[in-house]
Amino acid sequence: MRWERDVPLAPLVRYRIGGPAARLARPRSIAELDAALRDTSGRGCRVLGTGANLLIGDGGVAEPVLVLEGEFGTVRVGATAIEAGAGARLPALAQAARRHGRAGFHFLEAVPGTLGGGLRMNAGSRDEGLWDRVEWAEAVTPEGELVRVRREEAQPAYRHVRVPADWVFVRARLDAKPAEADAVREAHLNFRERKVRDQVYDLPSVGSTWKNPGPPHPPAWKIVDEVEMRGARVGGARIHERHANFIVNLGGARAADVIGLMAETRRRALARLRVALEPEIHLWGFDPAQLARVGAA
Ligand SMILES: Cc1cc2nc3c(=O)[nH]c(=O)nc-3n(C[C@H](O)[C@H](O)[C@H](O)COP(=O)(O)OP(=O)(O)OC[C@H]3O[C@@H](n4cnc5c(N)ncnc54)[C@H](O)[C@@H]3O)c2cc1C
Repeated sequence: MRWERDVPLAPLVRYRIGGPAARLARPRSIAELDAALRDTSGRGCRVLGTGANLLIGDGGVAEPVLVLEGEFGTVRVGATAIEAGAGARLPALAQAARRHGRAGFHFLEAVPGTLGGGLRMNAGSRDEGLWDRVEWAEAVTPEGELVRVRREEAQPAYRHVRVPADWVFVRARLDAKPAEADAVREAHLNFRERKVRDQVYDLPSVGSTWKNPGPPHPPAWKIVDEVEMRGARVGGARIHERHANFIVNLGGARAADVIGLMAETRRRALARLRVALEPEIHLWGFDPAQLARVGAA
């Protein structure tokens, strides 16, 4: 494993937006990950999945970036569980569950990303999250310790888990009991059909921009709509006409364009509806003032 310098990140992320990583490594095993973490100790690092939930700043990312490859990509279907590495793709997991007739994974259909990103985000639908299927997940701490986290310890919530932000997920075991094959296939097909119809797959995006604020507030897309931002455009970025919680890259969008749309949406939601929108997407390479404009911690 070696460190690459000034690696363009835009081609590695779903949005196709953002500047370079000052340093990037692609560990292929836990031993290589340990070595990379030892190299970066004290400075912190960032783990990149497929960037399906990430906006990278135009100036790039100063912290070292890790991309998990090699053995982290495995998916093994056992008698009652699926074990997979954190670099395995969520669509590959959904497909494995569908092909082997395992119930409870339909909500991962058409969700791009890796298992590691999915664990960090507790990716899923409004009603279910990936951690509902997790028996345990293993993560490596910045000090190089391998820790096993059980579902109840992670306290999963909507797009959130209580696992320290600097731990790197490396693999997980997911409950996957056999079920009636036709019913499983139908659940997957129905879910995928609805999702692909209602959401945006023909232009680069990172999915839902804002978290749903929860009762008594309406869902985020409705708030965007109510403050008249649906269809708004800044540079190469646009709030999509069909799904107002998606901001798409029409081609050549800069991070500053996306931030402009987010900041104006948030400003209007606060002023008109007294709702403080919080980004669902993660943002790398921004200064605290820029993060504050869009309500990111
Ligand atoms: C068209 C579209 C539809 C989508 N639909 C959904 C949906 O229905 N439900 C949903 O929840 N999301 C959805 N998303 C968002 C996205 O698919 C998920 O958030 C996914 O989990 C992101 O995975 P990723 O590997 O690309 O993570 P990235 O975007 O690369 O990273 C996201 C965060 O996870 C962290 N991370 C990544 N890997 C690891 C690791 N191994 N260990 C620790 N932290 C890690 C990163 O550091 C970052 O903080 C959608 C996105 C798109 C573009």
